[in-house]
Amino acid sequence: RANARYEAIAKMSSRKIRTFNRPEASNGAVMSIPQYFGCNTFGWDLMSQRLPKDDVQELREVSPSRRKLTPELADKVAYAVKEWAIAKGATHYCHWFQPQTGGTAEKHDAFFSFDKSGGAIDHFTGNELMQQEPDASSFPSGGRRSTFEARGYTAWDATSPMFLMETDNGFTLCIPSIFISYSGEHLDEKTPLLRSITTVSDHAKESLELLGEQNFSHVVSNCGPEQEYFVIDRALYELRPDLVLAGRTVLGAMPPKHQQLSDHYFGSIKQRVVNFMMECEHELYKLGVPCKTRHNEVAPSQCESAPIYEFANIAADHNQLTMEIIRQVAKRHDLVALFHEKPYAGMNGSGKHLNWSLATNTGTNLLDPGDKPHENIRFLYFLTATIKAVHDWSKLLRLSVASAGNDFRLGANEAPPAIMSVFLGQTLSSILEQLGSGEDPTPSETEINLDIARIPVIAKDNTDRNRTSPFAFTGNKFEFRALGSSQSISSPIAYLNTAMAQALKEMNDSLRSIAGGNKPSEKQILEVISKTYKSCKAVCFEGDGYSEEWHQEAESRGLPNLKNTPEALQTLLDEKTRKLLIDHEIFGSGEELDARYNVLIERYNMLKMIEFQSLENLVATHVIPSLSQYLGDVAGSYKSVTDVLGDGATKSQKRDLENLNELLQSMSDSHRQLSDFIHSSAETDDEGKLGDDISNKGLEIAQKLEELSAQAEEKIDDMLWTLPKYREMIFSL
Ligand code: ADP
Ligand code: MG
Repeated sequence: RANARYEAIAKMSSRKIRTFNRPEASNGAVMSIPQYFGCNTFGWDLMSQRLPKDDVQELREVSPSRRKLTPELADKVAYAVKEWAIAKGATHYCHWFQPQTGGTAEKHDAFFSFDKSGGAIDHFTGNELMQQEPDASSFPSGGRRSTFEARGYTAWDATSPMFLMETDNGFTLCIPSIFISYSGEHLDEKTPLLRSITTVSDHAKESLELLGEQNFSHVVSNCGPEQEYFVIDRALYELRPDLVLAGRTVLGAMPPKHQQLSDHYFGSIKQRVVNFMMECEHELYKLGVPCKTRHNEVAPSQCESAPIYEFANIAADHNQLTMEIIRQVAKRHDLVALFHEKPYAGMNGSGKHLNWSLATNTGTNLLDPGDKPHENIRFLYFLTATIKAVHDWSKLLRLSVASAGNDFRLGANEAPPAIMSVFLGQTLSSILEQLGSGEDPTPSETEINLDIARIPVIAKDNTDRNRTSPFAFTGNKFEFRALGSSQSISSPIAYLNTAMAQALKEMNDSLRSIAGGNKPSEKQILEVISKTYKSCKAVCFEGDGYSEEWHQEAESRGLPNLKNTPEALQTLLDEKTRKLLIDHEIFGSGEELDARYNVLIERYNMLKMIEFQSLENLVATHVIPSLSQYLGDVAGSYKSVTDVLGDGATKSQKRDLENLNELLQSMSDSHRQLSDFIHSSAETDDEGKLGDDISNKGLEIAQKLEELSAQAEEKIDDMLWTLPKYREMIFSL
């Protein structure tokens, strides 16, 4: 068995590296990215070429919560997109949607039918564009399927462009869609996101009107997610059942060298990995995903890829596509991409930094300190609203990043803590402090122009970078750093937008009441800003978020610290949160929220049980057999030596033997405890209680077994160890 591991290493070492050649135009010249960017998407430029101007305008106004798509227009779009897709070589179409699994789903239908006389024809109508009916019963619905019909339907989300997914033998037209149950409850990640975009736009618009801004029609949310992940050679991956089944190694000893030298972060990317990353980007460019940055991450064999920011709904689709393309292209390079938050214990995990801001549809970034004093009032208003949003709804934000995988990161010394706090940087903090104290902000080298009212001009880009903060202001946007690498960005954006909408709403109300029906003055606006800041500044923290002192300090400030997923999910059952989500029409009813809670807690429990069972199985079928065999070998050699030399010669060997035997004993005991836990869990049908049991008791048992297994790995003959070791998995690319 040990040979399988050595063989995999040999196979990996002798691989021929796949090269990636840039695409060439018909004249043989290498194509630049803009020459083919978006060639597989049916974007607004193609719409404009193929549809009358008025129709395109109408289509631009279509959104799930505002303007409905008419059947006539749907027919016209269907015809145009069908002609385009078939000419490109597509045979099928699918509604591409985002069920509550964190990933995407699709069901393919052919562009094919019979006409009245039985002849074969290309066929695709407005109806088919608008709606498809996948059976909803196999997707997570949190119990909604027992009370409602299993039928669900997907409906085109006209705000996101259709695209062609390439396979080895053709193209499929993917139609970004939302996913709803037959009775109209949504079963996906996308609908809440779209609704949150509407509510935050409405309230931000109201704020802007109060602040006297004109020349815009609505407000957009912009997002740029930075995606981290690991890659591993396929041959090693296949020898690790835990990676295959649970997405992470459930056991493994730390090698003497890992990431402590920090020699990997931003280091030159290995040829094999860079070829792979370039090919991913190439595929993504064709799909209109604006990839911008690539680099090595902190741990060896960990990478990051980030796009240029886009409208939040499109960014969410594009992040799903990015993960999908990375997975697919990795295969071509005999690699496997690991999106799990913690593939290797003890090593840096993977997250997803979500950069977020609001802007007017005319392109004014509302979180950008402007050049003129009135722009700074606007900036301070939106900045304060964001602080208020995080302060008032910190549990909701914590909930939005809760998952089994992310529990390994949040609070560990590599990712922000589970306590939500806001980092502003020295300059902004002191400006807000001084506003709050009633003093005029003092000019410093970063603040000038105090001539109008008490409004400083805020120099841009003087924010420090505090990597330990979960929610940091970074110049003209916030960076929400607590997301897990595998998760959909939809819920974090949806909840953040909703919290922001509510914060703006309350500030607007307060401003209106101070102004008493008149146009608010600058003084009144500043008063609301400083009052709001005072009421929520407990959430602002500039220090080291990893430190123990912060945990104590946060507790004394009364900030919530929801340590694990089952605790965080309780937020969905909390009355105040439910009212917020229903008032802003993110969800339709309490039942929908119950369903969402059920989906998430079941998912947590199932993922943890898969992990525990993988661990139980690996210890039983690999670790214990290897350890027993080694123990037998050592005992045999001890016996032979004592036969010849007598007892005295082998004192230390005897001690080793006793230690090994003890280790095996402890391992069997610990293994039995885990098995018992797994069996008793199978009998629980209260998912909430099961979640608590897992996160308290189960994790502790599993951790003990992992430690013992790491000890075994470090002690026994390398030949007898059957599972690829960490050093092989992370260093050998
Ligand atoms: P970092 O230093 O954290 O790597 P970058 O400037 O490289 O930050 O940007 C990271 C991400 O933030 C990118 O996806 C970028 O497009 C996005 N981003 C930049 N400006 C904004 C903005 N105003 N709103 C939302 N995202 C933004
Ligand atoms: Mg960043």
